[in-house]
Amino acid sequence: MSRAHNFAAGPAALPTSVLEQAQAEMLDFRGTGMSVMEMSHRSAEFIEIAETAEADFRELLGVGDDYHVLFLQGGATQQFAAIPLNLLRGRSVANYVHTGAWSAKAIKEAGKYCDARVIATSEASNYDCIPERAAWAVDDDAAYVHICSNETIGGVQFHEFPEVGPELVADMSSDILSRPVDVSRFGLIYAGAQKNIGPAGLTLVVVRKDLVGHARPQTPSMLDYAVHAEADSMSNTPPTYTWYLAGLVFKWLKDAGGLQAVQQANAHKAATLYNAIDASNFYRAPVAVPYRSSMNVPFTLADAALDADFLAGAKARRLMNLKGHRSVGGMRASIYNAVSQESVDALVSYMAEFERERG
Ligand SMILES: *Cc1c(COP(=O)(O)O)cnc(C)c1O
Repeated sequence: MSRAHNFAAGPAALPTSVLEQAQAEMLDFRGTGMSVMEMSHRSAEFIEIAETAEADFRELLGVGDDYHVLFLQGGATQQFAAIPLNLLRGRSVANYVHTGAWSAKAIKEAGKYCDARVIATSEASNYDCIPERAAWAVDDDAAYVHICSNETIGGVQFHEFPEVGPELVADMSSDILSRPVDVSRFGLIYAGAQKNIGPAGLTLVVVRKDLVGHARPQTPSMLDYAVHAEADSMSNTPPTYTWYLAGLVFKWLKDAGGLQAVQQANAHKAATLYNAIDASNFYRAPVAVPYRSSMNVPFTLADAALDADFLAGAKARRLMNLKGHRSVGGMRASIYNAVSQESVDALVSYMAEFERERG
C-alpha cells in the first residue's frame, strides 16, 4: 500500500494509523460483532466512545469544566447563524474582523440576525494580513467579537489573540488542535471537523456555560446550544462514525505528545515550505510574513501559464490537491496535523526540480 501526499484543504488527510485502526475495527468493534456505524447512539459501547472522545479533546485543548463541548452537524457554516442566534442575548450589535473569505461568509450570515459590524478589515491589501488590534473599532455594546483564527483560503493566521472587551468568538475550523490555545480567553470556539479533526460531518463547539440558555425564542432547536448541551449532543442522532474517528485522532494527538509537540512539528513543516518559497525567485507567497498560516500555504508560480504543468508533474509524483482555491488561483498546500514532514519534503524537492527545469 502506498498513500498519496495529500495537501487537500478539506476534507483533508487523516493519519494512516487512525485509518488502519478504523479498518481493523470496521466489521467487529472490540468484540461487539458490529461496526461502530451500525450501533445505537444510546448503546453503552457508543456512549463510551463519545465520552472518551470528549474527555481526550478536553485534555488536549485544556477545556475547563465551565465550558460545554458540543458534537454537532451542519458544518462551521451552520454556526455562522447559530452564533448570533445564541449569543446576542438581547443585544442588536455584533462585531466582526474581516480577514478573508471565511470571515466574509460569517459576516454575511450574521447580518440576517443583527447589526454585524465589520470593525476591521484587510480588504485594502487583498487580505494579506491581520489588521492591528489598535485599529479595531470595538463597540462597547457588542455581544461578541468574531474572528477567523485561520483563513483557510487566504492562508492568514492569528498568531496571538488580542484582548477585546466583549466575548471573543473564533472560527478555528482549519487550525484547531494545531497548537495550544488558552481557551479561557474565548466565549466560544467552533470548528468543522474535516480539516484537522476527522472526516466531514461533525462540528465541534466549545462554549462557556454561562453563554448558553439565552437563544432567541424563534431559534430552531437544532441550533440552540442549550438543547444540545442538555442532551450531551444526543438530542437527535449525532454523527456517530465521525465522532468515533475524531476520537481516534484525539488519541493519536495525545500519543504524539499533545499540542505543544504538534505545534513544533507544524512549525517545522511550515518553515520548510515557506523557506523554500522565499529562497526562490520563481515561487512567491502572497501573505505578509507575520501573518502566514502554518496550516494553509498559498503560493504562486512566476508564470501562471505553467500552473497546469506544475500540477500535472505534482500529480505524477502523487503530490495531490495543490490547486489553489478557485477564488484566488495559484497553488495552496494545506499542511494540517496529519500531513507529515516527509510529504512536505517531497513537495519542496519537486518544487526545486520544477524550477530548475521550467523556471
Ligand atoms: C472549511 C471552513 C468553513 C466551512 O466549513 P463547513 O464545514 O463546510 O461548513 C468555515 N470556516 C473555515 C475557517 C473553514 O476552513
